[in-house]
Amino acid sequence: MNEVKRADFPLLENNKEMIYLDSAATSIKPKQVIDKINEYYTTYGVNVHRGVYDMSSRATDEYEDVRNVVAKFINCKPKEVVYTKGTTNGLNMLANMLLPKINKDDEIVVSVLDHHSAVMPWQRVAKATGAKLIFVELDENNKITVENFKKVLNNKTKVVNITYVSNVLGVVNPVKELTKLAHEFNSIVICDGAQAVPHMKVDVKDLDVDFLAFSSHKMLGPTGSGILYGKYNLLNSLDPVEFGGDMNDGVEMYEATYKDAPEKFEAGTPSIAGLIGLKPAIQYLENIGMDNVHKHSLELATYVAEHIRNNEMLELYTKYPESGIITFNIKGIHPHDTATYLSTHNICVRAGHHCAQLITHYLGCMGTVRASFYIYNTLDDAKKLVEAINAACDYFKEWII
Ligand code: PLP
Repeated sequence: MNEVKRADFPLLENNKEMIYLDSAATSIKPKQVIDKINEYYTTYGVNVHRGVYDMSSRATDEYEDVRNVVAKFINCKPKEVVYTKGTTNGLNMLANMLLPKINKDDEIVVSVLDHHSAVMPWQRVAKATGAKLIFVELDENNKITVENFKKVLNNKTKVVNITYVSNVLGVVNPVKELTKLAHEFNSIVICDGAQAVPHMKVDVKDLDVDFLAFSSHKMLGPTGSGILYGKYNLLNSLDPVEFGGDMNDGVEMYEATYKDAPEKFEAGTPSIAGLIGLKPAIQYLENIGMDNVHKHSLELATYVAEHIRNNEMLELYTKYPESGIITFNIKGIHPHDTATYLSTHNICVRAGHHCAQLITHYLGCMGTVRASFYIYNTLDDAKKLVEAINAACDYFKEWII
């Protein structure tokens, strides 16, 4: 991988001792993104799609241009790109948009790998419609296989949600193969790309998913913005679930007409800076190359796995990483205690259920410690994590009964 300049990341430069291993929660922003946001607020920071004055046109042009950049990045048409506040917002909106299409005899397939934002909206839809929520079994590697997927699909399957990369375990599901199968049953396929799009090449045409949701802040971009991709005809056939400025064509006392997708799903003033800042984030990733981004994080997670795999004090849930995520516990020690100890070594990891309680319960624990790597991490960071985990094991030895 081209050397990522640490100097591009002011937060890292301002915290030189810190080893940031929590990029699955949110990534650190390069100055190219920060500068772009600053430029918006300081030189043309007005509303979009409203004014006819020059500055408003500039804001609108910059804002709309992001749609082209995202479309090229995931290989779709710009009009298939809906701006959202993030993955959670995209997945919730989508469940609400699809709700009128769901009947009481329908089945909705999810899995225990799903993030709360992917499974909870469908729990609500199932309750509201009488449809059944079906959980696909995981294999011994905690992944969804074609064989297990086949067992849950049938002519009643209306929607399937597939988590591309698990935010807890980092396993990568075979989305393309699963999508092909689901389509044989005419099911709508939704892909949660929150942990995939920031880390690997995601081509929606190649995967053939019907919808894909992801967040800007996990891929070097600002918080408060994200993308919902949808195949145009299907997307445009859905009704909006939020109403207000900019999404309507005309409003009368008892009726209103809507614009076509994507605008009809973008009511109200959006996160303009949040979306404008996504463009330099994507450009930064593209300059490195998505294959290199994936390879780099995977190498670091693999280094850690190889060096802690035989430590008997550890429960290593990610034995053979498939992404930049590695998850473990010190046996008998609360993950928050482990994470607090690691922070005394200036290492930032996440501990808990990671907003995915189904998989932590499935693993038989109440939470885990998760280290997640990204482009600005180095082999030295991985080595320091291994050293700190070993030191934590020594420290906690006498705590364990
Ligand atoms: N899905 C997955 C797999 C995630 O990892 C996350 C966030 O951690 C989300 C959905 C929700 O993303 P956001 O909080 O950006 O809406």
